[in-house]
Amino acid sequence: MALALAQMGIASTIIAPKAPTLTGGVQIAPNGWAALEKLGLGKDAQDHALALSMMRVLSLNTGYNLVQIPLNDRSRRQPYTSMTRQGLHDLLKKAAQKTKKVTWKNAAITGVTSKDNHAQITLDDGKVITADWLIGGDGSHGICRQYVAAEASPAEQSFTRQAFRLVISGKVCPPTLMGKASNLWLGDGCHMVHYPLADGTLNLVAVMPKAATIDDLIHLTRQHPQGAFLTAYIRDHAHDVYSQPLYQHQSLDAFQRGKVILCGDAAHPMPPHLAQGAGQSLIDAAHMMALAQSLNMSPDDDLQVLFTRWAADRNRQVKSIRRNAERAGAIFALDGPLAKLRNFGMASIGGKLLTDQLESLWAE
Ligand SMILES: Cc1cc2nc3c(=O)[nH]c(=O)nc-3n(C[C@H](O)[C@H](O)[C@H](O)COP(=O)(O)OP(=O)(O)OC[C@H]3O[C@@H](n4cnc5c(N)ncnc54)[C@H](O)[C@@H]3O)c2cc1C
Repeated sequence: MALALAQMGIASTIIAPKAPTLTGGVQIAPNGWAALEKLGLGKDAQDHALALSMMRVLSLNTGYNLVQIPLNDRSRRQPYTSMTRQGLHDLLKKAAQKTKKVTWKNAAITGVTSKDNHAQITLDDGKVITADWLIGGDGSHGICRQYVAAEASPAEQSFTRQAFRLVISGKVCPPTLMGKASNLWLGDGCHMVHYPLADGTLNLVAVMPKAATIDDLIHLTRQHPQGAFLTAYIRDHAHDVYSQPLYQHQSLDAFQRGKVILCGDAAHPMPPHLAQGAGQSLIDAAHMMALAQSLNMSPDDDLQVLFTRWAADRNRQVKSIRRNAERAGAIFALDGPLAKLRNFGMASIGGKLLTDQLESLWAE
């Protein structure tokens, strides 16, 4: 968002604690990639991205290939990429630095409010900053979302599923795991996704019930055709497996309260099942820029009009994506006879429905 504002000639300060090195990756679908291009980053993004040529859905129980979506034969499915999280972060940071309109403040925000038509921000060193606006991009558990939504603290939010995340060096992986495909393996009550990244690693995510343990993860991966490798690897690197609760967030009616406006996961967290969260955050920024251009904004204009329109547009646009991501999660989580029925449906008409749904989402 800072980059989008800078490209409109508006200066901003990013307040963020010193970031740890980010591990793993995200899939960036054609709609997310289009946003990167609109932000002028399409060319540089290629350094951190790997174009994937196929998406497939497979059954963990039988090994059957249920759905295959070629990603290189139609323009609206291209480019479908994976990107390292650190690469995406570095790309955005470098571009923002280059504008000379963005400064950084190394701090965490501990308090947010609106006062006298300004945002008032308290930092962890006790300092209080007053700003024309605060754009809260501090994630689904951030203090800005809590302020705008008057939401319960994260500890009170419920979750029934967790994602186990793991990155494996391609040097030790069987080559078949490093093929340029996004693989979704459907199991009984759980699913697993893996795809290679541009830094030569494999990104693996397993979504399982809240109570699942590493032993359950090992049990799940044993069903994979490369189960012998995966189970041994996870057993030896259990301390590198990161478990992330998948909270069930309410969707917000408004992204703005006073002079605080939300973006990214802070505004519209969604389950990861359609691989859209980060892409939608990029679309937030691209849409801000496009809207400012269409409104013919100049840096001295009151941003209220722009922000109000932007928030309403984005809220409307993400609602159905979020609903579809929730639906996909519920389908992936089926078990027993329903899982068998799901797999049968996927292998027959479901594949076409899924392909059509993804194509129209990616074309937006
Ligand atoms: C298992 C899993 C797999 C996923 N896979 C994909 C995928 O394939 N494709 C995709 O597009 N999306 C994916 N996502 C979603 C994606 O990770 C998120 O949508 C994306 O990270 C949101 O970015 P964000 O910048 O809005 O929030 P975040 O990534 O949460 O970043 C928030 C930032 O705010 C900072 N912050 C927090 N609190 C404060 C504070 N008080 N003061 C200052 N700074 C603060 C944090 O340090 C952090 O840097 C996945 C998510 C999960 C859980």
